[in-house]
Amino acid sequence: MSWLERNLRAVMLMDIVSGMFLALRYMARPKPTVNYPFEKGPLSPRFRGEHALRRYPNGEERCIACKLCEAICPAQAITIEAEPRDDGSRRTTRYDIDMVKCIYCGFCQEACPVDAIVEGPNFEFSTETRAELLYNKEKLLANGDRWEREIAKNLELDAPYR
Ligand code: SF4
Ligand code: SF4
Repeated sequence: MSWLERNLRAVMLMDIVSGMFLALRYMARPKPTVNYPFEKGPLSPRFRGEHALRRYPNGEERCIACKLCEAICPAQAITIEAEPRDDGSRRTTRYDIDMVKCIYCGFCQEACPVDAIVEGPNFEFSTETRAELLYNKEKLLANGDRWEREIAKNLELDAPYR
């Protein structure tokens, strides 16, 4: 056996041994991967997921149709129409978000003076058609009703940093 072959064999043996040690070391550590979708990792309270329109505890819509969210949206994904109610309050008659245009920047949530439009914790809203991603007011309010508990908790946790 030549000098070169002997050295090559020695290097390969060292690689194998160090690889085995590395495998043994990581075998004892907790696994960083999760068995999604059965297991899910933690989410930051600032996670920007699917949009939702919130209500007050008495069921009244929070949105006062100021249109700040529509004005600030860099993707022009929000369309709002509004008119005054009989009691003089102003509410939306149409609130649409084109989720295909949305870039999840969170500006709408930051601009809203009454925490009405928010990006909630839901990230599992993929669809098979584009039409399903054109959200109307009914869909957004339903999202708000569904996720209110988690959204309120996240806003509370994030409040000191806003
Ligand atoms: S997250 Fe950004 S892009 Fe999406 S609707 Fe809100 S402001 Fe527009
Ligand atoms: S969601 Fe907020 S920012 Fe947008 S129109 Fe309603 S109150 Fe104004």
